[in-house]
Amino acid sequence: MSISNFPPAKIATLSEAQKAGTTCARCGRVPLSPQSLDGADLVVCADEHARVCTDSVFWLTPPCPWWCGSRWHSDHDRGSDRHHMSEWTGNVPLVLEDGNEMGSGLSYQPEYATVHLVQGVRETEPRIWCGKGETNQGWYMTPAETRELAATLSSAADMTERQAAPLAAAKAC
Ligand SMILES: [Zn+2]
Ligand SMILES: [Zn+2]
Repeated sequence: MSISNFPPAKIATLSEAQKAGTTCARCGRVPLSPQSLDGADLVVCADEHARVCTDSVFWLTPPCPWWCGSRWHSDHDRGSDRHHMSEWTGNVPLVLEDGNEMGSGLSYQPEYATVHLVQGVRETEPRIWCGKGETNQGWYMTPAETRELAATLSSAADMTERQAAPLAAAKAC
């Protein structure tokens, strides 16, 4: 490949390692199979490695789901960390639980229930995580289970507000 085929605008932005021919002038990674650019000290990944010679994260197949905060993905994510995570989280303060000290001399923060979406990059649909604040104490749910739990919680809250059981549900005593 010739340097004349290389975008001039890109050359102005190369790092020292790229200029020295240590890393690929296109993607910035150390090439598995370096290919020299004629007329320059630059190297690029061999053409057969085009699928990982890209500006995006090499293990990621775009697009991310619309809800993913994809700025967290990076080349150094290990296999178990390669998942889409929702940027959105739902947080509900839990005033009946013990508060959490946010650091020595800092104030206490109420415990809270938190909800977010997660999907492994090889998984076909998201899971919904629900748990306690900054902990791993929680569980994953399908969308159907989440809706069922939401309805169940609403039923429990409704019961606290009634003065008597609805007629249809009243027990004879
Ligand atoms: Zn490359
Ligand atoms: Zn993503």
